[in-house]
Amino acid sequence: MRTQVAIIGAGPAGLLLGQLLHTYGIDNVILERQTGDYVLGRIRAGLIEQGTVDLLDEAGVGARMHAEGLIHDGTQICADGVRRRIDFKALTGKTVMVYGQTEITRDLMEARTACGAPTVYEAEQVALHDFAGAQPRVTYRKDGQDTEIVCDIIAGCDGFHGVSRRSVSASAIRTFERVYPFGWLGLLSDTPPVSDELIYTRHELGFALCSMRSPTRSRYYLQCSLAEHVDAWPDARFWDELRLRLDDESNERLVTGASIEKSIAPLRSFVAEPMRFGRLFLAGDAAHIVPPTGAKGLNLAASDVRYLSLALREFYAEKSLAGLDRYSDRALARVWQAERFSWWMTTMLHTFPDAGFDRKIQHAELDYVFKSRPAATALAEQYVGLPF
Ligand SMILES: Cc1cc2nc3c(=O)[nH]c(=O)nc-3n(C[C@H](O)[C@H](O)[C@H](O)COP(=O)(O)OP(=O)(O)OC[C@H]3O[C@@H](n4cnc5c(N)ncnc54)[C@H](O)[C@@H]3O)c2cc1C
Repeated sequence: MRTQVAIIGAGPAGLLLGQLLHTYGIDNVILERQTGDYVLGRIRAGLIEQGTVDLLDEAGVGARMHAEGLIHDGTQICADGVRRRIDFKALTGKTVMVYGQTEITRDLMEARTACGAPTVYEAEQVALHDFAGAQPRVTYRKDGQDTEIVCDIIAGCDGFHGVSRRSVSASAIRTFERVYPFGWLGLLSDTPPVSDELIYTRHELGFALCSMRSPTRSRYYLQCSLAEHVDAWPDARFWDELRLRLDDESNERLVTGASIEKSIAPLRSFVAEPMRFGRLFLAGDAAHIVPPTGAKGLNLAASDVRYLSLALREFYAEKSLAGLDRYSDRALARVWQAERFSWWMTTMLHTFPDAGFDRKIQHAELDYVFKSRPAATALAEQYVGLPF
């Protein structure tokens, strides 16, 4: 098989890249380890920046997002039982949109099927070859049959645990990592959200987040120990613990119900540098992870894809390597801004084991955000997303 760009992974990064390349007339094949239903069943991000909205529009998949997505002008932060609002629109003139990763993935999959671009699901033993040279290859096995794809470029969009980053020799890559001493226990329920806006709560018992996917579907998170197992959290225990962390007004408004999904995710900051190795380009979680506190993971995948798709368009239209040569530096500059913001939000809002000096600094930090318009503006500017 021959294609121009072989894309590994059908998560948001791979599917969005594939769709943009298709609109530019660039052939691509996506190889995905899982089934399409499995990919759609993963409950992950829910909040997207304007830059991501614009990119989905450019890819021609924005119609349902605009019809069903919820525009948020601000967010609420609750500390010591007192809720305050960060007004994004007043502070930055910008807003964010609530539209689930599952829905984005579904829209992208449907668009790909409609345009007939190939996706190989349940591709096993995906392996990358010869990406140091001008003609890389990807091999995989499907239904017991081995296939080789010869291509110009490989896009590694296969997430943190994927094969692409691991295919690079250890001496060519440098990684930076911070693992946090807690995780997030998430619960999805078909109940109306407790508030029209997200509520980030700092509490001595641990951080909590009230989020949503639609006016009838809520997503709640509790900071939890990494030693916890989700089976130890029947719904009633989750709701009881959430009530302990919320302010009085939220407690009065909270509607509880049966969970439709519950899971624990560890929190990690991770960056691999560079993001380009010859003709292999990493994008999204394959190259970097942020803790979800700043809602940046999916948006970073989108900004990587924007830089890479533009560079590939230039490569094919102008026979120029200039954009591809700049890709890693350009993507990493934005990645590190999002890493810093996500780390800052995480350290400011979670309960850490150190209850001494660090806790006091943490309180002073949030106090400053509440009392200073420039500080609130800095939070808002990064939350709505730095320019792509
Ligand atoms: C539990 C959880 C909750 C999250 N919550 C949020 C949130 O609230 N807000 C936010 O912004 N972000 C959140 N994120 C992060 C966000 O979901 C990711 O940043 C986003 O999914 C990145 O997209 P991606 O396409 O780069 O990677 P992924 O979504 O991981 O997609 C990678 C794809 O590659 C496939 N793959 C892996 N290995 C192979 C292989 N060897 N061969 C072929 N295919 C392979 C995988 O099956 C997968 O489909 C969360 C992540 C997790 C895990």
